Amino acid sequence: MVQTQHLESALKDFFGYSVFRPGQKQIIEEALNNQDLLVIMPTGGGKSLCFQLPALLKPGLMIVVSPLIALMQDQVDSLQDNGIGATFLNSTLDYATERSRQQAILQGKIKLLYVAPERLLSERFQAFLQVIIQRVGVTGFAIDEAHCVSEWGHDFRPEYRNLSQLRRQYPQIPVLALTATATARVQEDIVQQLQLRQPKIHLNSFNRANISYSVETKTKNSYQHLLQAIKEQPGAGIVYCLSRRKVEEITNKLQADGIKALAYHAGISDRSGNQTKFLRDDARVMVATIAFGMGINKPDVRFVFHYDLPRSLESFYQESGRAGRDGEPAQSKLFFSFGDIKTIDYLIGQKSDPNEQRIAKQQLNQVIDYAEGSTCRRTIILGYFGERFVGNCQNCDNCLNPKPIENWTIEAQKFLSCVARCEQRFGMKHIIDVLRGSKSKKVQQYGHHLLSTHGIGKDKTPEEWKTLGRALLHQGLVAESDDGYRVLKLNKQSWTVLRKQQEVQIAINRNQEKIKAAANNTYREEAEALFEKLRKLRKQIADEQSVPPYVIFADSTLKVMVQRQPQTKIAFAKISGVNEYKAEQYGEQFLSVIQEFWRSHQPKTSSSPNESQLATLKLHQQGLSIKEIATQREFSPRTICQHLSDLLAMSQPVEINQLVARPRKEIILKAIAKNGDQSLKPIKETLGDNYNYEEIRLVRGWWQGEQKKQQKNT
Ligand code: ADP
Ligand code: ZN
Repeated sequence: MVQTQHLESALKDFFGYSVFRPGQKQIIEEALNNQDLLVIMPTGGGKSLCFQLPALLKPGLMIVVSPLIALMQDQVDSLQDNGIGATFLNSTLDYATERSRQQAILQGKIKLLYVAPERLLSERFQAFLQVIIQRVGVTGFAIDEAHCVSEWGHDFRPEYRNLSQLRRQYPQIPVLALTATATARVQEDIVQQLQLRQPKIHLNSFNRANISYSVETKTKNSYQHLLQAIKEQPGAGIVYCLSRRKVEEITNKLQADGIKALAYHAGISDRSGNQTKFLRDDARVMVATIAFGMGINKPDVRFVFHYDLPRSLESFYQESGRAGRDGEPAQSKLFFSFGDIKTIDYLIGQKSDPNEQRIAKQQLNQVIDYAEGSTCRRTIILGYFGERFVGNCQNCDNCLNPKPIENWTIEAQKFLSCVARCEQRFGMKHIIDVLRGSKSKKVQQYGHHLLSTHGIGKDKTPEEWKTLGRALLHQGLVAESDDGYRVLKLNKQSWTVLRKQQEVQIAINRNQEKIKAAANNTYREEAEALFEKLRKLRKQIADEQSVPPYVIFADSTLKVMVQRQPQTKIAFAKISGVNEYKAEQYGEQFLSVIQEFWRSHQPKTSSSPNESQLATLKLHQQGLSIKEIATQREFSPRTICQHLSDLLAMSQPVEINQLVARPRKEIILKAIAKNGDQSLKPIKETLGDNYNYEEIRLVRGWWQGEQKKQQKNT
């Protein structure tokens, strides 16, 4: 039995991570105790580790049931890249490969075996399983994407149903079910179908704190907004559209605008080719219908944009949740238009079953509530899953830019009385034309230029009137015909507004000027440049091995490399996401890119000393201490210290040993080697209270000067 305090070190050894994500440790401990488990964690929460680490710590083989070949391939690649014995068996393999994998399993070289459910339950495999149990033992069955057993989930797969056999045939082997679907009904189904035995149920929060949510109103040039939003984003992203036609259209436009975009929908024959290009960063944007779904295991998707309305809040959550699985900041943006509601409404109307219609309609309304809502978006989403999230998340548009709620009762009265004057026979556009005093042919043809409401709304723009009109519709204060003409009709509620019995409040979305902080921060630019270089190297290594780049290192790991700029393999191996195996495999290549970058980006101070610095140098050479120089020059000791460290960094003849005692210098140097020399703070933190910033700064200057001398010599 493994000691639990050793779990952290096992996590570092096998996966290179230093801390567990919420829930992981307890789940792993229970798995090690052979408990049956149901693990419900949002996408990106780190479910896989919950069965992978126990598999590595227990003797025998863990059998992982996974519905899609792409998912198996992806996980096996990642594991192998960590130097872990993992493989899969499926129908794509030739006989010889299958044989050799089976051999490896029986020789105990494999800790995790991925199979599809139909294969696992086949007679041939069951016979093989008996041999495995006798020779190496089976540590457990991990059922990934376990919601596939339930007809109530969004991805029912009949093959999953038969998995109940496992419990009957192998009562002694624990079963771990994992899913990202939260509804109570699906959870119940999983426990029943898989016949889990007194399972421990782990329900982790569905809050995806690293995803920033926003909604943008679609206007005529919404494509330009989309393009702009994509240009502002770093890294890869997905744009979801409702129809194949729209997918094609947007893909073509984006390509014409120089964005590396690809299309994905059920009608494209080389879908999987496009998917691979996206996974490998050969395309930046995937424009897709919802057919682009479960197989997408890419952790570094930086944004998911819904260019059309999703069908339900659950699908919106699943789709937007494909962003930021690596825990790094990511964006979800929904482009919302009133016209889209009509399209979906129409599609719902086509359904023959009235019950289905009602459910679909309700789901649509929940999406509209989300899009139209002026409260925290996260609160709305989590509320949908029955999770209470109170307060301000500071990471959604409504929390960051609260929309002012304004009282538009008078405008609403104008609008509604205009609907009445036009005899409830026209749509919104015509009503707005009349309010704004248009003399168009249509207005004159109906004599509407003579109405008392003609021109009473010139003070508002057509967009503002539209915002009001939509708000009235959504608040049920006016009705609309459902014959496709969208004729506005007054209802009971309209009359209460007209009779001044009800006030009208609407959220006004003023186009707030975006204040963009000038990016004059050179350090940030440099950091981005190094990040790009490391990405390139990662891509090159990934291509050589035919795996997606994130299998080599996650974005977050590259970021830490940029921050720390490790100079040695030991420092490199300490980075989160790097284990010993990876440090051995890739350390040299990454270190040389970092060092090369470091050399070509010397700090700006590396030119020649200025007059003030030279004056300090002169006094130093006369043997004065820092305090004495400070007194003589009427500067603070801190400034003199800064002069001397800058001089040291320029390889000027400053005697470091007069300033910092040698043993102290050695210890400070060690701390610099560990933390890099970019920032003093981590060095100070390593050294603790016995060392002050002054001496650290001096030693750093000396160290930088030495580096420069060495480069000149080589
Ligand atoms: P899920 O299956 O729940 O969607 P994954 O298991 O694929 O999520 O994990 C998502 C990402 O998080 C992966 O890149 C994984 O390597 C990473 N990850 C998992 N556990 C940790 C951890 N403890 N520390 C850092 N990263 C982790
Ligand atoms: Zn919020």
